[in-house]
Order: sequence, then C-alpha cells, then structure tokens
Amino acid sequence: EYVPEKVDYVFKVVVIGDSAVGKTQILSRFAKKEFCLESKSTIGVEFQTRTVSIKSKVIKAQIWDTAGQERYRAVTTAYYRGALGAMLVYDISRRQSFDNLARWVEELRANSDNSIVIMLIGNKADLVEQRAVPTEDAVEFAKDQGLFFAETSALSGDNVDKAFFQLLEEIYAVV
Ligand code: GDP
Ligand code: MG
Repeated sequence: EYVPEKVDYVFKVVVIGDSAVGKTQILSRFAKKEFCLESKSTIGVEFQTRTVSIKSKVIKAQIWDTAGQERYRAVTTAYYRGALGAMLVYDISRRQSFDNLARWVEELRANSDNSIVIMLIGNKADLVEQRAVPTEDAVEFAKDQGLFFAETSALSGDNVDKAFFQLLEEIYAVV
C-alpha cells in the first residue's frame, strides 16, 4: 500500500549569490542527507527537496538552485516567485563575492515578498588561510540589512544543516 507522505507545509527557498561560491554544494549537502530525495530539472531551474520536522510539523523544503544564471539580473522573476526564504551565499575567501551582496539583496527584495526570510551564508569557512572577509564585516552587513547570518563549509558539512534549520524555523515562525 502506498502511504503518501503527510506534509504540513512546503517552503520554497531560493539559493542565490555569485558563481562558484558553493551554492550547489551547500544544497547537495543539505538535500542528500535525506532518503526522501527528489530532484527536478527544468529549463534553467532546478530544485531539490528535503522533508524535515520542525515544531512537530512536517515541512518539505523545496530548495531552488540557479543553473548558471548568476550574472546580475539574469536570474528570472519566476525563480523568486513564491519564495518564503533565501540563502544568500558568498565565499569567505573571495572579497568580490561579498562586495556584490548588496546587489543581490536589492534584486531579491525587488522580486520577493517583504516577509521573505533571508539567511546570509559565508561559505568555504574551511579556507582559513585564504579568508578575505572578516566575520565581523558580515555580521555588520547582516545587521544593517536585517538578515540572519551563518558561516558554513559545504566541504566539511560544518553548519550547513544548522543554517537551513534556522532558516526553516524562522520561516515557520512567520507563516
Ligand atoms: P556555485 O556556482 O555557487 O553553485 O558553486 P559550486 O557549488 O559549484 O562550487 C564551486 C566550487 O567551490 C567547486 O569547486 C566546489 O568544490 C567548491 N566549494 C564549494 N563549497 C566549498 C566549501 O565549503 N569549501 C571549499 N574549500 N570549497 C568549496
Ligand atoms: Mg551552482
């Protein structure tokens, strides 16, 4: 007998940020941990899902990844449509990816609801020797822009789940 999964909520989350900051790797880290992996490819967009339990509710996180459209303003409005959360990723070893964040925030705000929950992610935290963005700079930027913030390593897996769970919990708190 086929018993459908009981899902209380589906939360769409978009992952954005410059090319090569580790967006796809972060998403794989989070989504592939679950046996209930589901992947969908369409032209230019794809998402993966992971179903988690938050405050005794079953929440299916549907996380969208850009398919190489990271060029500024190349991400389409359809990508952002209906998103309740966003992971805004930069690379702690590449200053330019941090300096471009304001533009990403602007694009995100222009294409999403005011209530969208945004988590700033400083990825590649394992690259200690090559750090080009002090944590304090990111904390300040996050505070100014009203974003949550975490540093992660998709390579080691450090903090990836924690960041996603925090984002999903914050979304749950506002839906
Ligand atoms: P995207 O273009 O933002 O989707 O970036 P990718 O996920 O394709 O990653 C770009 C490159 O960075 C790849 O060579 C990854 O192996 C590498 N990478 C991603 N995450 C990390 C990380 O946390 N640490 C390190 N050292 N490398 C990473
Ligand atoms: Mg990618």
